[in-house]
Amino acid sequence: MVEVDESLVGKEFLKLAFEHCIKCGTCKMGYKSFKPSCPSGEKFLFESYWASGRIRTAIGILLEELQWSEELKNSIFACTTCGACMDSCQAPHAHYIVDIIESLRELAVQNIGPGPNQENLVERTNNPEMWNPYGVPNSTNAELKEKYNLPDKAEWVYYIGCTSNYRQTKIRDATIRLLKRAGINFTLIDEHCCTSPMLRTGQISSARDFMNYNIEKIKEVGADKLVTSCAGCYRTFIKDFEKHGANFDFEVYHTVELLKDLLDSGKMKIKSKYNKTITYHDPCHLGRHMGIYEIPREIYKQIPGVKLVEMKRNRNFAWCCGAGGGVKIGYPEWALEVSNERLAHAREVGAEVISSVCPFCRTNLSDANENYNGGFEILDLLEILDTLDIEFK
Ligand code: SF4
Ligand code: SF4
Repeated sequence: MVEVDESLVGKEFLKLAFEHCIKCGTCKMGYKSFKPSCPSGEKFLFESYWASGRIRTAIGILLEELQWSEELKNSIFACTTCGACMDSCQAPHAHYIVDIIESLRELAVQNIGPGPNQENLVERTNNPEMWNPYGVPNSTNAELKEKYNLPDKAEWVYYIGCTSNYRQTKIRDATIRLLKRAGINFTLIDEHCCTSPMLRTGQISSARDFMNYNIEKIKEVGADKLVTSCAGCYRTFIKDFEKHGANFDFEVYHTVELLKDLLDSGKMKIKSKYNKTITYHDPCHLGRHMGIYEIPREIYKQIPGVKLVEMKRNRNFAWCCGAGGGVKIGYPEWALEVSNERLAHAREVGAEVISSVCPFCRTNLSDANENYNGGFEILDLLEILDTLDIEFK
């Protein structure tokens, strides 16, 4: 094992890289498929842009054989944290590769500052007029509560998330309408950012405060369950809150889990048809990061008329939409290129609609669809359900 000066090691995750990465390069290809897995390595074509190289960068920094420099920045920050490398790597640290990359980012932020444009995410989020990374005034959600006649105390909180609340409002509105139609006893809180943009870009200094704030707000309304329509918020609440010591005792669900329960228990039945060919795009934060692959597919299959077709790259082998890990703001053109590849995968299988269950995937796929004249309809599952006749018991 390599000797490391313990005082240099900021995170346990980085130590894992020393012990286990044998630089075999398996992370560059889908496991047993031998097809490229990493959007970053495929684009930039230098070793330091694949997971194996980023781990070498971490080792070099920690052994002080590599000095911090502006040149290192891109190789550290041009990664969507999609986790495809975690799925390919067969070594014991595989599950922690994204944690290793995020820990390296934390050290980079301390030494050479954040990735390109990524400081904007956190400056805006920390702004008390905003509390979100989009730079728009904070919505307390009081107007929505009034519009939809939502109570002050409830069993569930619908945590909207910044992307659905400030960019993809159709997902937010469709989700609220569906929860109302289903008779779920829920409300909204004056939520602040879930911290995903901070954590993914290594800018974690105020993350814990945001986590604690959101936990307190959820407690205040007496809820013991949270549901979110955002794959990023879902991962953050379940995995990152605990990692950062922000513990809570309410249950966390993605909307697809709640919907699946309603369908399975016979409380929800979809009556009208949706006669379209749909392909489902697995959001990285719901699929590889959280292991949810089948639940959304089972819901599409219960919509009469839907022809569900699979892209060749699906489930754990799905190609990233290109937006995550601060790439959408840091490398906007490359983010669209990655997404355009996804459109090509959908075209190959004759899909008319590309559907997902993450507002951030919807944003980037829609942007690429517009930019490259993709000709698809890009819709969240909830938006599709919102148009259908559904019987609730
Ligand atoms: S991260 Fe895993 S797959 Fe990649 S080089 Fe290291 S051991 Fe091999
Ligand atoms: S998380 Fe995705 S983009 Fe980043 S190194 Fe792994 S495969 Fe490449």
